[in-house]
Amino acid sequence: MTQEPKYKRVVLKLSGEAIAGEKGFGINPLVIKEMVAEIKDVYELGVEIAIVVGGGNIWRGNIGSEMGMDRAQADYMGMLATVMNALALQDVLENNDVPTRVQTSIEMRQIAEPYIRRRAMRHLEKKRVVIFAGGTGNPYFTTDTTAALRAAEIEADVILMAKNNVDGVYNADPREDASATKYDNLTHLEVISKGLKVMDSTASSLSMDNDIPLVVFNLNEPGNIRRVVLGENIGTTVSGK
Ligand code: UDP
Repeated sequence: MTQEPKYKRVVLKLSGEAIAGEKGFGINPLVIKEMVAEIKDVYELGVEIAIVVGGGNIWRGNIGSEMGMDRAQADYMGMLATVMNALALQDVLENNDVPTRVQTSIEMRQIAEPYIRRRAMRHLEKKRVVIFAGGTGNPYFTTDTTAALRAAEIEADVILMAKNNVDGVYNADPREDASATKYDNLTHLEVISKGLKVMDSTASSLSMDNDIPLVVFNLNEPGNIRRVVLGENIGTTVSGK
């Protein structure tokens, strides 16, 4: 029996952490390989996949800024970090016969296409996985906000927020508080008003204003991306106002 995906076009948000593996730092091609097997599985269901990659495994702008750097300068370094992750991801995807295009929000024509919305949508229609690198191209933003922005732009059905070793949104940190309980469903407004750590507030407001649902789930559980795409109720779904 062929299974019908619930979503036709998705934005998968992968944090830098997901690319680093256990060490939490740098790029681990073996970890990427495992993740790519999961992505390929979903790709083969015919789902159009756009990926927004983070950069926190290499550099975070706020850390540089806390150490006295100019914030915008430090943020540009963070955006460059996402490009390294995107190229690593592209390499592994293509080695596994998944056609891809990387688009950067800051032009780097020798290594990737510049971000062009209509072109990105065309690639998706042609069943190429599009990797969005460079964040929004602006300092003071995050790649979560990039995921919300690109999802709205390319008319994605959902944002898949893949988390490392957390299986959804809790009312307290489950690693610190044993009585923490998981939410199955939330509205974007609840996420913002309760101050839940799902996305940063800019990303949450953008998702709310544009009515983009998101599913928060554990990336480290094999088969989870597929489960979410097929509409299984795992993790936490955030939608509506
Ligand atoms: N960044 C930015 N603008 C953006 C996206 C990212 O300035 O639109 C910078 C910012 O410094 C951030 C870094 O890139 O700390 C890495 O991105 P992020 O922290 O979102 O990565 P993740 O936490 O997903 O690994």
